[in-house]
Amino acid sequence: MTLLQPLADGVTLGDLHHLDRAESIAVYLIDTRDGLVLVDPGPASCLDTLHDVLREAGAAPDDVRNVLLTHIHLDHAGVVGTLARARPRLRVHVHARGAKHLLDPARLLDSARRIYGDDMDRLWGEVLPVPADQLVVLEGGERLTIGGRILRAAWTPGHAWHHLAWLDERAGIAFTGDVAGEGTQHGTPALPVTPPPDIDLEAWRPSLDLIEAWGAEALALTHFGPAREPATHLRQMWETLLLWSVSVHESLATDGPDEARAEAWAHTEHDRLTSPLPPEARAHVLLETVLGSWYGLARYWRKKEEPPA
Ligand SMILES: [Zn+2]
Repeated sequence: MTLLQPLADGVTLGDLHHLDRAESIAVYLIDTRDGLVLVDPGPASCLDTLHDVLREAGAAPDDVRNVLLTHIHLDHAGVVGTLARARPRLRVHVHARGAKHLLDPARLLDSARRIYGDDMDRLWGEVLPVPADQLVVLEGGERLTIGGRILRAAWTPGHAWHHLAWLDERAGIAFTGDVAGEGTQHGTPALPVTPPPDIDLEAWRPSLDLIEAWGAEALALTHFGPAREPATHLRQMWETLLLWSVSVHESLATDGPDEARAEAWAHTEHDRLTSPLPPEARAHVLLETVLGSWYGLARYWRKKEEPPA
């Protein structure tokens, strides 16, 4: 079984097989003259698989010199403290609004525990702080040169307030974390990812415009793999996001607890998304992914409609 898929000159996708599931969480490897760059190294629960990915790529663990984070959610960055502590020369690039949570993950872990409860360890593993002197704090708008490769960072809120997207200029690959949503290699539609607490549609739209203006050959999605037609992917994702925002808003007016509203909405939406697909593609649209998105959009509307204090 191979964990790697070459995407472009010097850019490789690694499949972290989160919870033994293929095509769930990707890490991206960029080869430079100054060692390897990892974009979103994934959760700590995938540390062994990450080492397998590096071995398969012919890299020693110490070859990893730089980590670029799109954002600090545990599925993207949970392992970064563990990596940094084992390699004092490793530098971790992160948006300023996310940096404090890498230095002290306590609040991030508290809010994740409210969602995942006792399942935290199994899902995400041990989350360690990143030493301050290994952090490179960015605002977005930077153009970094790492080992001869030019990597652009852009502030792209919408999914999270501290979200960055990255562009490898030479390879023409945009690493979009979760702001460009999810996709599969199986002909399923592009889907938004809208978990609590930061979802903001007004902030989201300009982020997509900015990414589209890069004119990349492909979007490298964390969940999962390359979207080879960026403009089509972004348009489809945004259309579904608008549709979801309206239908979640409507569901807030129905009776019952949030769990029931979310379930009912997710089943309806999952049916709508999967019914036009060939049977073999349907299994690649996960109900749980859709379900999780109800909560972030519900929070978005409630915050918006709160009477001013
Ligand atoms: Zn994610």
